[in-house]
Amino acid sequence: MNDAATDTHCPYCALQCGMGLRRTDGPVPVAVVERPGFPVNRGALCGKGANAAAVLAPGARLTTPLVRTGGELRPASWDEALDRIAGAVTATAAAHGRDAVGVFGGGGLTNEKAYLLGKFARVVLGTSAIDYNGRFCMSSAAAGGIRAFGLDRGLPFPVEDIPRAGCVILVGGNPAETMPPFVRYLRELQENGGKLVVVDPRRTRTAELADLHLAPRPGTDLALALGMLHLVVAEGRTDEAFIAGRTTGWAETRAAAMAHWPEHVESVTGVPLPHLREAVRLFCEAGTGMVLTARGPEQQAKGTDTVSAWINLCLATGNAGRLHAGYGCLTGQGNGQGGREHGQKADQLPGYRKLDDPAARAHVAAVWGVDPDALPAPGRSAYELLDSLGTDVRTLLLAGSNPVVSAPRSAHVTERLRSLDFLAVSDVVLSETAALADVVLPVTQWAEETGTMTNLEGRVILRRKAAEAPAGVRSDLEVLHALAGRLGHGEGFPTEPEKAFDELRRASAGGAADYAGISYERIEAEEGVFWPCPSADHPGTPRLFLDRFATPDGRARFTAVHHRPAGEEPDEEYPVRLTTGRVLAQYQSGAQTRRVAELNAAAPGAFVELHPRLAERLGVRDGEQVAVVSRRGRTVTPARLTTAIRPDTVFMPFHWPGAANANVHTNPALDPVSRMPEFKACAVRLERCEGG
Ligand code: SF4
Repeated sequence: MNDAATDTHCPYCALQCGMGLRRTDGPVPVAVVERPGFPVNRGALCGKGANAAAVLAPGARLTTPLVRTGGELRPASWDEALDRIAGAVTATAAAHGRDAVGVFGGGGLTNEKAYLLGKFARVVLGTSAIDYNGRFCMSSAAAGGIRAFGLDRGLPFPVEDIPRAGCVILVGGNPAETMPPFVRYLRELQENGGKLVVVDPRRTRTAELADLHLAPRPGTDLALALGMLHLVVAEGRTDEAFIAGRTTGWAETRAAAMAHWPEHVESVTGVPLPHLREAVRLFCEAGTGMVLTARGPEQQAKGTDTVSAWINLCLATGNAGRLHAGYGCLTGQGNGQGGREHGQKADQLPGYRKLDDPAARAHVAAVWGVDPDALPAPGRSAYELLDSLGTDVRTLLLAGSNPVVSAPRSAHVTERLRSLDFLAVSDVVLSETAALADVVLPVTQWAEETGTMTNLEGRVILRRKAAEAPAGVRSDLEVLHALAGRLGHGEGFPTEPEKAFDELRRASAGGAADYAGISYERIEAEEGVFWPCPSADHPGTPRLFLDRFATPDGRARFTAVHHRPAGEEPDEEYPVRLTTGRVLAQYQSGAQTRRVAELNAAAPGAFVELHPRLAERLGVRDGEQVAVVSRRGRTVTPARLTTAIRPDTVFMPFHWPGAANANVHTNPALDPVSRMPEFKACAVRLERCEGG
């Protein structure tokens, strides 16, 4: 068979690269081909995207429901599996109340799924216990963006604007490994004469490209941003007209920054003062500047304040609300943006509305045909929800997430999952979390279904179905419809994605993330539509804030912030900082990519990266097994020696389970605003394993 390719998008990260899928006659039903017309990646794909079809192979995925009997998972019919779930939900709610039934979603789910999952929790289950793994991704950036601009959209400008800035400061992001096609925008920036400053404790592949690399100690980039703002003020580089005309709160923020002396910042961060001055010079003399953050500054127990510190730097220098300048966040998960807009977050309703806002409740309740007073209150954040499993929450329905690998303090979270009365998991593969479930539902995946995603620019795109799902597999929308029916809600859960999207549009209308004017037809015709798009004749909004910010008075808000130590600082017992992150060939918890031979060959397993000086002190050679020990557990992985990391810091990627899982160590200290756990900084010690 050799028909025309179907235009669609990659199943993985938030860049949502365009690709074509051409049908084949082989066991893998489609092959990935280039789609040069999509403007974001212009045909380029990384290895994950290029090999994405492999996860559609029959042997790589689940094709029948599984139920646990006598301690073992065995194949079952859909009716048996769904009846078991409905029975467990009913029994738990009757015995322990509605909030004892929890829902955990994912930032990779389509907009339609995220929307209906939130509606299912609030309307069918009547539970407040819903949150999703996106809380672990960019929730601090979202909170910081709302605090400053009144609105959170990952990038308030399209990626094509990045090369037109004079200087970009990239803080705690490594797109050369996480989203390689994005790197072309950084290269084009430099080709245009712009400067790239990378802030990262490691000299990553992205940092290698930088004109200036600053390598602060993990957890100290808030101090770094304060030091830069101090120098901006001290050197008379503020944009007073912008501050006076378009912002509020400068006096307090200025005072906070001036309390952080650059010499003190140097000692806290480990970044030499001349480098700090050079970063300020590059940023302020560029004409237009952007600050882009990623998980480094955001995944901290002070993540929101850290984001605010970088936004303050933008505002003080007039680099916001104008062309080719501003603050943005490089969202991570495929639908990290859309996933946080449609109501699967503990405190939100569709349209990025607040669940505790009476007007928002009334609007959404009218679309859903329910009493606004019947909608539950805001619930617990993701880690708090996982931590309550087996005690407050007794039955959990989980879709599109693998917290056994990806949650902080993962061994504890695994224990909590095991302590549940009942766990149901919808997934494509038997992930480490699905393997613990009482019922596993095999669901369709990206190329087997149609649905919308919202990429890191706020561009709503359409993933089109390109292959038939194997027999025995159903879509998440069919699962929700079937469960809702069994629980007394025969209406309101459409199985056709476009119908679900049309309802989502109505629910979002008038909200911050307004999709009312976006249709499947328009997305197809326009290569995506940027929200907000309130009506069919509205062009969409690629660039936000050019005239006014989304605050009540139209001004951006400074927030005075101060540095504070990480939740866990090195001490005598645990003298080394651990930071975690990603590698090029694996994606998130690795549930899909660890099943792809080409990707596994490139990145077969976990490791701990350490500086040769630290290795020498421990007597460890490259490739030898090393135990990493924290207050939360112990892992054993090979040592990888490199001078690209600070001697006081070690790094572990988090894609692998079990004794190699980096999240065994990560600290669930939570940011007070975003409830983000502190993935990026904790204290460990290293031990050489006997026998090397
Ligand atoms: Fe897929 Fe992201 Fe790679 Fe693009 S950069 S091909 S979206 S994983």
